[in-house]
Amino acid sequence: MRRIGSNIRKQNADAKVNRPTRNIIRYSEQEAPRNDYPRRIVSPPRPKSCCTDENRDMVGKVQEIDGFKFCYKICRTCGHAVKFFFPAVESTSPAVKEYRQWKRYTVQ
Ligand SMILES: [Zn+2]
Repeated sequence: MRRIGSNIRKQNADAKVNRPTRNIIRYSEQEAPRNDYPRRIVSPPRPKSCCTDENRDMVGKVQEIDGFKFCYKICRTCGHAVKFFFPAVESTSPAVKEYRQWKRYTVQ
């Protein structure tokens, strides 16, 4: 089984910060929220009670890294942005599909 991130070479102590899946979200208290996708998204540092899943708009296209699909989502009210990873529902593995099928009936 392949571990997530196992193909990312560790170069130095900053490897985690500079990894290729670079985040375009910039959390700032000084700057006003701004959607400058795909270059940058300025967001308040912390989510508030308005930042529900339903209140967030998807920004740009769905991207994929290492088989994981993600997109950026921004709160309509305060502009708080997150990198949203989709659950791996589109897995092509038959074993996973079978497991999910079975799980459907056991979990309410
Ligand atoms: Zn919000």
